Amino acid sequence: MDVNDKKDLCSPCEFKSKTKIATKWCIDCKEPLCVSCYGNHNSHRSSMNHHVISIEGNKILESLQIPLKEYCEVHDQDKDLYCSSHSEIICLTCTQTTHGKCEPAVRLSDVTKSAKTSTFVSMLESNIVEVVDELRVIIRDRENNKEEIKKQKTEILDTVKNYRKCINDKLDQVEHIITEDLKVKYERSNLEIDNNVRFLNDHLNEFDEIRKKIDILKDYASNTQTFIGARALEKTFHYKEVMLTSFLELIQNINIDIEMNQDIFVTCADIKSLGDIRVKTLDTGYCNFLKNRGQYPIDHQLKLSKALEIKIPQESFFRSTILSCIILPNKQMIFVDSHARNKRLKVLNENGTHDRNINLTSKPFDVIDNNKIALSFPWDTHKRIGIINITNSKSEPDIFF
Ligand SMILES: [Zn+2]
Ligand SMILES: [Zn+2]
Ligand SMILES: [Zn+2]
Ligand SMILES: [Zn+2]
Repeated sequence: MDVNDKKDLCSPCEFKSKTKIATKWCIDCKEPLCVSCYGNHNSHRSSMNHHVISIEGNKILESLQIPLKEYCEVHDQDKDLYCSSHSEIICLTCTQTTHGKCEPAVRLSDVTKSAKTSTFVSMLESNIVEVVDELRVIIRDRENNKEEIKKQKTEILDTVKNYRKCINDKLDQVEHIITEDLKVKYERSNLEIDNNVRFLNDHLNEFDEIRKKIDILKDYASNTQTFIGARALEKTFHYKEVMLTSFLELIQNINIDIEMNQDIFVTCADIKSLGDIRVKTLDTGYCNFLKNRGQYPIDHQLKLSKALEIKIPQESFFRSTILSCIILPNKQMIFVDSHARNKRLKVLNENGTHDRNINLTSKPFDVIDNNKIALSFPWDTHKRIGIINITNSKSEPDIFF
């Protein structure tokens, strides 16, 4: 049997050398109780007011490791008093020393008796709920931000790709222009060379003809005929030779090359990147996280600052049906009279005297304070919020939703 098991055994029974499983724990006696000992414990005058909880409850409570009492290390005794000047738990000796000049200390048990229903605890609870809710919203918001930047990344990659495609398209375009230009110029040069070669071949054939004619003259003609024929052939030859010479003067060798537009390389060399990736930060409004939280009441208790008995003036036959009330910054009070025949706001002064009525066309339900007040009309067919300027009692345009 280990220590934990022993703790679950009823202490009074153990004292009587009996072994019984405990189901309860008395916080005041600091001991476990079985069902029958708990019954006895409850019927004893001395222990009937003890704070008894379940064994399980005690285990959970112990896991919180919150001391039952605070201990004053300076004066070596339990702190069982409360100094309201310092909002501090103190010991008896503290009241005569460090807290000697404070408001008289009160018993801690008096201050803590309504702790569970105190404004302090309920405010703490609602603040925790609020913080948890807000944190959940913020975490969701952060997750959304993650999704957003993921989308933005994809969009940027698309933009870069498109930008690159534009550059590629432009390069394709200039490549096409220069290819076409090369084709035209090559074909023109080709044609020029072909024409020249054709002209030269024609002359070659003609010179060949003249040579053949000379051969014929030499083979078959008489000397005189050869002389006459050769003179005529020489004339033709000379004429052709002059033509050829002037033609040859015009023939030029053709070379095709390219001078690249260096501007593109100069521009490319200057390019360090396609753009700048900028990470911009925008205010999330989280800075208001703590600011909006409700303030804990001083002294852990709300105090009534003023009690006022107010009689709602009844100037008509129908009694008012007051459903809601607010206090304006100027301390005037507005009561919402939702009686079907009255339908009005009754404005009372700080001392409770009647100031004026603001008549309405529909039955109002609630008001929210400011210089202007907003009214809800839940019984209207059109869902709307009415706005009334309290300085001149005039209605402003309704907000429909
Ligand atoms: Zn017992
Ligand atoms: Zn007890
Ligand atoms: Zn002390
Ligand atoms: Zn004090």
